[in-house]
Amino acid sequence: MKTFDPSFRYQVAARPGGEGLLVCFSCGVCTASCPVAEVEENFNPRRIIHRVLLGDRDVLKEEYLWVCVGCFRCTAHCPQGVEFTNVLRVLRDMSVEEGYVLKTWKSVVEDLDRRTQIFRRQLIRELWERRAFSFPEYKEYVKYMLFEEEKGNDRA
Ligand code: SF4
Ligand code: SF4
Repeated sequence: MKTFDPSFRYQVAARPGGEGLLVCFSCGVCTASCPVAEVEENFNPRRIIHRVLLGDRDVLKEEYLWVCVGCFRCTAHCPQGVEFTNVLRVLRDMSVEEGYVLKTWKSVVEDLDRRTQIFRRQLIRELWERRAFSFPEYKEYVKYMLFEEEKGNDRA
């Protein structure tokens, strides 16, 4: 039978970044504003917070804790000032500490996020310089950046 830990919410709230968690009233605005939740149905910020508030420690085992891209939209839109992006970081740390994922996994995900940001900045800059605002051209350009340029780099 599943067990719940009533102290779990306080453990999360006691860590830097987790403080606002207790005032969540489950409105779902975070989920509605999340670009990842739009494409990944298992990722639901409101539900994650709800599970923490219920004391469901199994949430630390979930792979979807790792799909957030750290854009802070949920945090910006929350009417209660809950910083979900930071709450998720706390949950990731706890997941590592409790042995559900390796510490190196966390480093790999953080490195991936950093590289994604670099790639995004580079893409925006180049699109801006080309004034490539129409969708078909954008699509072609992204394809080029993702595949063709890489082939070129491999050949170099
Ligand atoms: S937007 Fe804020 S209050 Fe609403 S569910 Fe998300 S974290 Fe809770
Ligand atoms: S920070 Fe993460 S959870 Fe929040 S909106 Fe962005 S991707 Fe979604």
